[in-house]
Amino acid sequence: MPPHIYTSSLPSPPLPRQSIFHHLFPELDGACDIPPSTPTLIDGLTGKTLSREDVRIQAQRLAGGLHKLGLKRGDVVGVVGTNSLEWCNAVYGSLAGGLRVSPMNYAYTPPELLHQLSHSGVSLIFVSQDVLPTLLKTLELGRTKGFSVPSDRIILLTPAKVEGYKYIEEIWAEPIEPERFENGDEHETAWLCYSSGTTGVAKGVETTHYNMTSQLQAVNAVYEPLKRGQDVVLGYLPFSHMYGLALLVHQVITVGVPMVVLPRFEETSFFRAIERYKVTWMLIVPPVLVNMRNSTQVDKYDLSSLRGALSAAAPLSEELCRAVEAKVKPLIVSQAYGLTETSPISHYTPLEHARGRQSKIGRLIPTFRARLVDPDSGEDVEIGHAGELWLQSPSVMKGYYLNPDATRNTFSSEQEEGGRWFKTGDSAWVDEEGFFQIADRLKELIKYKGFQVAPAELEALLLTHPSIADSAVIGVHSEEQATELPKAFIVPKAGVVKKGKEAEFKAEIVSWVKAKVASHKQLRGGVEIIEVVPKSPSGKILRKNLRLPSLRKERSN
Ligand code: AMP
Repeated sequence: MPPHIYTSSLPSPPLPRQSIFHHLFPELDGACDIPPSTPTLIDGLTGKTLSREDVRIQAQRLAGGLHKLGLKRGDVVGVVGTNSLEWCNAVYGSLAGGLRVSPMNYAYTPPELLHQLSHSGVSLIFVSQDVLPTLLKTLELGRTKGFSVPSDRIILLTPAKVEGYKYIEEIWAEPIEPERFENGDEHETAWLCYSSGTTGVAKGVETTHYNMTSQLQAVNAVYEPLKRGQDVVLGYLPFSHMYGLALLVHQVITVGVPMVVLPRFEETSFFRAIERYKVTWMLIVPPVLVNMRNSTQVDKYDLSSLRGALSAAAPLSEELCRAVEAKVKPLIVSQAYGLTETSPISHYTPLEHARGRQSKIGRLIPTFRARLVDPDSGEDVEIGHAGELWLQSPSVMKGYYLNPDATRNTFSSEQEEGGRWFKTGDSAWVDEEGFFQIADRLKELIKYKGFQVAPAELEALLLTHPSIADSAVIGVHSEEQATELPKAFIVPKAGVVKKGKEAEFKAEIVSWVKAKVASHKQLRGGVEIIEVVPKSPSGKILRKNLRLPSLRKERSN
């Protein structure tokens, strides 16, 4: 059967062949109608406000400082910390200086941080003060493995004095003129976010300048018309995840609307910021809606400025949207879908189409083409049936950094017009109006509150426990929390777990894992003892069998 290709009903906008920094700040070419005094970044806790001009000049000053420290085009810097104005300065400044940025989850433990720092090859690290102790432990661990970063290349994102380390503003220098891109330079890598993709442990996703600027152009073509002078965006989702990075840190600059920055989600500051700054638009993940549905604080604050919330990163239920919309008027929740690898949004539902379609992920946005393919036969499925979602777009990543095997496996092999197809690992179907709906997740990934948890990583960790012979990890859905929870199936070594002591053993495993991984990877779904991990003849874990109690062999003592 010939491929059935779905396309966006909207034409592709012009796709810039320039650096992200020039795209964000067209005033560098004298071509910007956004006034330089436009409030752009607002610290939601202190009220400190930076204008558009402040943001740009500070970035160029940081770029000057980074060059003075000896960094040069193509070098990688790491950024690890909670959201802040300085976090934004670190990334805009690095981009202005032609550097690549690898943003990291601030909740990572030292081994997790070390994996990303050393694999991405960072030569300078921006860190917030609360994460500094973890970073120092990471570097201590790194020394035993031949990885190091000198202390004058560890730059604080928070102004508090820490002996031996400089605060970001202390390295600002003369502003530099960012280099202009030519002859294909736009295909240089700008970002290295880490994602486990369809299998295995976290891999560096190479997002180029062109990937990101194409995404910004495509999203702007369908995004709710955010109006300068009227709209205010809330930025509490982690900037280190591609979802926050593209749609908060970059998008607001291209549109010219202010973003109120909060370090992380915390109920009181979240509601307070919406009321105080009259926030109109925000990005959410479903568990935040659960919080809004259940919170007694909702009625204490005036949230009537909120007109839209875009939910992505995990499945959303229509009932949950309705419950929140009934409490917070005139809010409308709509859904989008995407992956770190697609920079990230490929599907989006405009607010006016959202009601009645909130469990659908939306229509293809401009520049994206899709196929739905039967993973067994490799043939496109019939219209109305579910198949693996394959995508093509200028926003699809270059590949996985230093990992040609993983890159090869995640793209289709056929070469055809428009390039190879990126295989999402999600199964979807499409209705007659072109709205897609996710049917299942085919890949191994677990998502806890929008954060990735790679089963392979937890399984490898569990195997280092002296009492464990084999293990498998899956995600179990919690309706109450609107998220998946990682759950481990364990085969204990012979004779280790005495009859009647199973509960103690399970509790010990849960706390042992808790001490070793970032919070979102904890075994919140619990532990179950089984006799044998179901595997295919080739040794692949049959996770579907673990989901069905009738198909798994529980231990019978
Ligand atoms: P990440 O790279 O961390 O953004 O994770 C991408 C994965 O999150 C996708 O492959 C999906 O499995 C899941 N995902 C993202 N958006 C949605 C959505 N709207 N509904 C269901 N799953 C989603």
